[in-house]
Amino acid sequence: MWGRRAYGYFADMDDILLKYANMDVPRYTSYPTAAQFVDFPDTSLWEGWLGSLDKQASLSAYVHIPFCEKLCWYCGCHTSVPNGYDRATSYVDTLLKEIDQTAPLIATEHGNVSHFHFGGGTPTFLNGKDIGRIVDKIEEKMGLRDGAEVAIEIDPRTFSRKQGEELAQMGFNRASFGVQDFNLEVQKKINRVQPYEQVEKCVNELRDVGIPSVNFDLIYGLPAQTVESVIETAHQTAALNPSRVAVFGYAHVPWFKKHMKLIKEEDLPGTQERYEQALAISKALQEEGYIAVGLDHFVRPDDNMAHALKEGTLRRNFQGYTTDAADAMIGFGVSSISEFPQGFAQGGRDTLSWRNAVEAGRSPVGRGLEISKEDKMRAHIIERLMCDFEVDPVAIAKQHGFDQSTLMAAFDRLKALQTDGMVEMKGFIVSVPQDRKIFVRNIAQAFDAHYVQAPAKHSRAV
Ligand code: SF4
Repeated sequence: MWGRRAYGYFADMDDILLKYANMDVPRYTSYPTAAQFVDFPDTSLWEGWLGSLDKQASLSAYVHIPFCEKLCWYCGCHTSVPNGYDRATSYVDTLLKEIDQTAPLIATEHGNVSHFHFGGGTPTFLNGKDIGRIVDKIEEKMGLRDGAEVAIEIDPRTFSRKQGEELAQMGFNRASFGVQDFNLEVQKKINRVQPYEQVEKCVNELRDVGIPSVNFDLIYGLPAQTVESVIETAHQTAALNPSRVAVFGYAHVPWFKKHMKLIKEEDLPGTQERYEQALAISKALQEEGYIAVGLDHFVRPDDNMAHALKEGTLRRNFQGYTTDAADAMIGFGVSSISEFPQGFAQGGRDTLSWRNAVEAGRSPVGRGLEISKEDKMRAHIIERLMCDFEVDPVAIAKQHGFDQSTLMAAFDRLKALQTDGMVEMKGFIVSVPQDRKIFVRNIAQAFDAHYVQAPAKHSRAV
């Protein structure tokens, strides 16, 4: 039975595939996932992690800017629309204090930041002066390595050439932005109207001013989207030649993000349609010469992520698939997550508690998770599966000092997945068949010792 006969290659989902597609499973940008974080009694654990970093460790720095000009109704980020720029300036003042207070605790020598990422929200909500203050502070207190990747998320609706020139001058060499879908009807239904010409102008200006690497985010499963509209968007995207394209499924969680109530549920595509849209975008982008990377990335053959895939060095962290192989990631700003070999730590969950802590001279880190040796081993298996679609879990367990009996429950779950045709097993080697790659999160879940099946805890697999 075939779905989109006009396209001729989308098999209807049978009951087995539907079961997996409708499961709520983690995105596994970390293991254990943020759902397992607990409150920390104090900040000693986190401070100990900062102090135990190797002098020569490579670091990744992340700053979170929680402001946008206008709220997109599909948005799942930690952001808000402030009623004036003053809030942003005062946020940056506190952020600089947080860096001042944290940097002396980091044992790594100055000059070891290999990746520096501004995320949000819309970091370019900040003016050039405030972005510059943050860049200067990171450079002063932590120091960037030569050739470091310095990346920022921008909004093509508010981007100007002058802003691009300022960013290039400050050393930014990668910019990413949400395109989602070029179809005007879809854009209206998600409260984010940005015509193709506006995005094209933004991309051209970024390249003109010397920011060569541009990433796009696309989303499927949005209201009014169809297989036809996402294929059109994929071809329009390729015409602008971004280095990387990330494709995510829209997660409709109005009980968690109230503004999503503005999206009418009857306008949302069903599971079969979402599945077809995901496959259609993937096929169209690969036809345009993009290389599929992991579950949701597509990259130009000359992008460093394509090299990482080839060399087996692709990584996955809170920002998704990455070439960032840093030993630790240190986050600044509200809700930012830091990642260390020993575990995870999160700054204040809301701006008020984050600000109060920093202004009182305390670390805003209030929660996180210390990971066990077994967590580390499972994280390693899950990361390789998510990146390579093939893993030898027993070999990895041995590297971490465990024998295969630790993975008995995982192998039981894999047996069921194998019966359903979701995985292939050769001895202990687990591989995901080409036409089941979209379900890799379901397969990774077999190794998740913390997973609790509960509706609305995670996002739908497809
Ligand atoms: S611009 Fe980005 S972060 Fe801001 S509301 Fe829209 S999707 Fe969310």
